[in-house]
This record gives sequence, structure tokens and C-alpha cells, in this order.
Amino acid sequence: MNYADFYRRSIEQPQEFWGGEASRVHWETPYTRVLDDSQAPLNRWFVGGRTNLCYNAVDRWAQAQPGQAALIAVSTEVSADGEPVERIYSYRELQAEVERMSAIMLALGVGRGDRVLIYMPMIAEAVFAMLACARIGAVHSVVFGGFASNSLATRIDDAQPRLVISADAGSRSGKRVPYKPLLDEAIRLASHKPATVLLVDRGMVPMDLVPGRDVDYAALREQHIDAQVPVTWLESNEMSYILYTSGTTGKPKGVQRDVGGYAVALASSMQHIFGGAAGETFFATSDIGWVVGHSYIVYGPLLAGMATVMYEGLPTRPDGGIWWRLVEKYRVSRMFSAPTAIRVLRKQPQELMDKHDLSSLKALYLAGEPLDETTSAWIQGALGVPVIDNYWQTETGWPILSIARAVDDRPTRLGSPGVPMPGYKVKVISEVSGDECAAGEKGVLVLEAPLPPGCMQTVYGDDERFKRTYWSNFNRPVYSSFDWGIRDADGYYFILGRTDDVINVAGHRLGTREIEESICSHPNVSEVAVVGVEDKLKGQVAIAFVIPRHNDGLSGEDARQALAAELMATVDRQLGAVARPAQVHIVSMLPKTRSGKLLRRAIQAVCEGRDAGDLTTMEDPASLQQIRDVMRR
Ligand code: ATP
Ligand code: MG
Repeated sequence: MNYADFYRRSIEQPQEFWGGEASRVHWETPYTRVLDDSQAPLNRWFVGGRTNLCYNAVDRWAQAQPGQAALIAVSTEVSADGEPVERIYSYRELQAEVERMSAIMLALGVGRGDRVLIYMPMIAEAVFAMLACARIGAVHSVVFGGFASNSLATRIDDAQPRLVISADAGSRSGKRVPYKPLLDEAIRLASHKPATVLLVDRGMVPMDLVPGRDVDYAALREQHIDAQVPVTWLESNEMSYILYTSGTTGKPKGVQRDVGGYAVALASSMQHIFGGAAGETFFATSDIGWVVGHSYIVYGPLLAGMATVMYEGLPTRPDGGIWWRLVEKYRVSRMFSAPTAIRVLRKQPQELMDKHDLSSLKALYLAGEPLDETTSAWIQGALGVPVIDNYWQTETGWPILSIARAVDDRPTRLGSPGVPMPGYKVKVISEVSGDECAAGEKGVLVLEAPLPPGCMQTVYGDDERFKRTYWSNFNRPVYSSFDWGIRDADGYYFILGRTDDVINVAGHRLGTREIEESICSHPNVSEVAVVGVEDKLKGQVAIAFVIPRHNDGLSGEDARQALAAELMATVDRQLGAVARPAQVHIVSMLPKTRSGKLLRRAIQAVCEGRDAGDLTTMEDPASLQQIRDVMRR
């Protein structure tokens, strides 16, 4: 099959194309219409069809391959020495656990359409909870475990859950992070009070149960040990979940997703993009609190009948070879990670990778942030398998740009996440005129309506915010990605950073991403953040914060300044003097969101001496303090 034809069909005959893809999932009642876009952009896919995500992800395979591994939950956080501890569930066992969890929820009064907030560490029970919601038609909203109370409270107030499911604690690098006190405080802060809190006791830290509100999972599971809970067939456009964006650019948006469109889109993506077959093992290193976790730890691999590895822990404990060890042990065929994690692994001793048999691995997928050429070239060389960058957003639920390797044999191109995936009418347009840019010309990446199945239905509870935020930025109704992009003459796209990340130096518009890419090409750079900072003379200047790959010889101020000078010279050479950062600072960490994305807006605010704004999604406040300190010097 020729990809150009395949893609063209998805655009020119969407009804036929997606009608065909819909046969990858079971429909209890057939749909009457593939797409209803009469209320655009509030579209409805597979109208009138009734299906169920849990049925398609679990029951179907529990019938076809009951003994096949479904969920491989691995933790390096529960043993004192960081040695991995596994719990493996076959499809039959997974279905039994999900039915128990479903019975518990029903007994607690959770019904169709009710929201259930899941605030949990990366443990199997969190997946049972997501799938149980899907089974009974409740709407899950997974909030990244370990978020502080105020972040959690905002999400409780937004989603208004009837039930919250949590655990005594998570763990990070062997250190216990008690969840229960954070949750108690969040519920105190929130105006909405959930009726019930279901708690999984991992035996990590003692918990005080609030009488009348808190219930213990283990005890209820025992009561429902033989439960059989039939699936609730849902109309395709009922809500499956709410998930908040990473909050990199401001207040997180509650992305609302449907049932049928999401099932079809994921099943289709597993076939064409990820190429995973039933019986193989998929390993996505993300967290269930993020969209990659929803789509490619939980639903995608299970919809494809694969075993999915869920990993609790750091990529570097007990040592930097742990992920490769898991690939070898479980014969992982497809792995999905993020550039930020690969940069960490690049700093590890090579033998930790080399000593493992990675021959099962057929491809590595990376998403979430721009993949710089240095990281890409390193991992591709080290693994010897295709490294597939893929670009998308919480909003879309599955890749916008990638290479659909099952139907497309074109090579990857360094620095590019590839070409549009089926159904995505990707355009690069001028932010001023709204006209389409020529090949090689920089513009805003937008999507023309309709968005394919699986993409967000709306902002939860706020259709107006959905229309205003995404669809009203240009003189015609297109969905704005808020990312800069460029298309080359061969149709490959390049992402140049977020639209807020462009700086203006003496009249020249520069993408911070381009400067970062240039700095990254230096052999002793592990990570870098570039921001534009107000300057009386030039309007703005670039300032770079760099984490070196090796710290040897960098303890003295002279050595640091020498490295800074080398980096400035590198940018000078590659991009010209305008792009050269006015200052380069060596740091040991950078401010990031909990999902690992650089918080450039916070760095910029600190550099300009402004208030850093909403920092509730920030990972480690010490990183921002470091920026303050170096700027003060
Ligand atoms: P918020 O919308 O709340 O500010 P966020 O945009 O970081 O947060 P996500 O939906 O998790 O939330 O991230 C999507 C963004 O991540 C994209 O818009 C893009 O900027 C970036 N991104 C994702 N994948 C890639 C990729 N392969 N290459 C470059 N950038 C990417
Ligand atoms: Mg975003």
C-alpha cells in the first residue's frame, strides 16, 4: 500500500476510511453515521453506535487468549535495593480484577456518567480503576500521583468526582511519598467534596481512614471476589475520560474524550503507526497521569491484545540499565519513551545497555518534546532499530505527525517527526495573514476541521473555552496547535517550538528551539533551555541554561566560562551572531513540569524579575531557585 494514497483516502473520503478502521473494534450496536459535524467543532463520531472501551481492551482478548499476559506491572520502588518486583496479570486475570473493581464502584453508588478521580502511583490497581470506569460507563480523570494538594484540589473542583481512588503512598527513588495527607488536604481545599474515597493500602505508610468517607480496597475486593459485572454499552459519543494538559504554557485544560472515536483511533494507530501485534509486548515509559500513559500504557496495547509493561520507578534505579533489562526480560517489541528520558540514559555508562539482549526490540517511539538531533542520532546508533519521533498533544490523544511504518517505507529524517497521520489535515500558516506557508517557510501548525476520531470532544464543562482557545485564532476556523512548524519540500514537518517561545532580537525572529538545537550539538551538553529576556537595546536577548553531560573539570569558574564561550561560538557559527545567547549559565537541573517538559515561561519570568505564575505543575522548585541564584550573580 502506498502511503500517499492511504493518507489521501483518509482526507478525501473520511466516512469510508474511518468506517473501515471502525471494524477494528467490536460494536454491540452498529453506528448509523460515521461523522456528524453539523455542530462543528463539536463533532460526533460513529453516531448511534454502542461499544465499550473495556470490552474491547479486555473481555475480547480474555475470550480469545485468556492466558496471554496483559499487564506486567513492574516496580523498582518497593524493594529496599531497587530490584524490580513484578506482578503479571493474564487477560483472564485482568478481567477478573476489573470486574471486582467495577463491582466495588457500583456498590459505592458510582453510575454511568459519574466522574471518578484517580490519584494513584503507577500500580496495577490504577489500571483496574481506569478500566472499571470504562466498563460501567463512569468517567475517569487520572491526576498524576504526587501532585501537590492545591493542584489536586483544582482538578477535584473541575471534574466534581463522586469517588476518588487513591493509595497510601507513592515512592520516588526509594523514598516514600505519602498520598493520603495530600489528598485529605486537597479535599479540604476543594469546594466540591467527593462522597467516597477508596484507598489501596500498599503497606508503605500508615493511614487514618475518615469514617463515613474512606473505604479500604482490600476489604471490599474480598467481598466482591467472585463478582461478574456485565459491560455497559455506551453510545460512541458518551464521555470516557477527562485529562488535564501538562500546564506548560499556563492553566491546564480539561481535555474531554469520547468512547467510540478514541477506541477506533487507538486501534488504528496501533496497527499503522506502532505495528504491535497480539501476543507481543509494548513498553511505554510514561505515567498514567499523562496522555501517553492513557493511550499507550493502557488502552492502545490492550486494544491490540498485547502485553503492556507498566513501570513504577526511575530509569536509573537500581542502575541506568533497568529499562534495557526489562526489554530483554519481557521481549519488548515496541518501546515508547520521551527525549528527556533518553538524554538521561545517554549519560549512563554504555555497558549498562550493551550487556542486554535487545534483539526483540523492533522500534523505539519518542514523543512529548522536540527530539534534538544529538539525542536522536545517539539512541538510533546505540539500538540499531528505527527511532520514530511522533508529535501530538493531550488534546489529540494519538500522533498527528509520525511515520506510519506499517504502510509507509519512507525513511525517518533527523529532526522531523515525519508526516501527517491519517485524518489530520495539517497546515502551516502565517500567523499574520492566515495563509498557507510555502515549503521551507515558518508558520503556525494548525489542523483543518474535522479533527480525526480520538481527538478531544471539548474542554470539559466549557464548550466556549474549547472554541475560543483552539478555534478562534485566525480568520478561518482551524485548530491551532500553538506550535511553530515548517514543512520541507518532501512533505516532512519540523516542529520549531511553541508559539510563545519565539524571541525577537533586534528585529530578528528566532525560535528558542533552533538555538537549543545548536547548543545541543556540543559534545558536552546534556540539556539546555533557551529563553528570550527583555533587553533595553535589542528588544530581547537569548539566555541559555545548560546542563553539561560530564561535570569533570567544570568545578572552577574559569572552566565554566570557557564552556559558555565555546557554546556561544557554536551558535555563532551555526546560526549567526544575532542568535548568539547574551549569557550562558551552567546549571545542574532545569525547571520542568511533572511530565518532564521544560517550563520556559517560568525561567523567562525569573530572568525578567517577574512573578513566575502558575507553578503548580512544576517538578522541583529547587531548579527554579538555581535559575534565580545564577541570575543574581
Ligand atoms: P499546556 O497545553 O497545558 O501548556 P503541554 O502543551 O505541555 O501543556 P501536552 O499536551 O502534554 O501539554 O504537550 C503537547 C506539546 O508537547 C505539543 O504541543 C508540543 O509543543 C510538544 N511536543 C509533543 N511531542 C512533540 C514532538 N515529537 N516534537 C516536538 N514537540 C512535541
Ligand atoms: Mg499544549
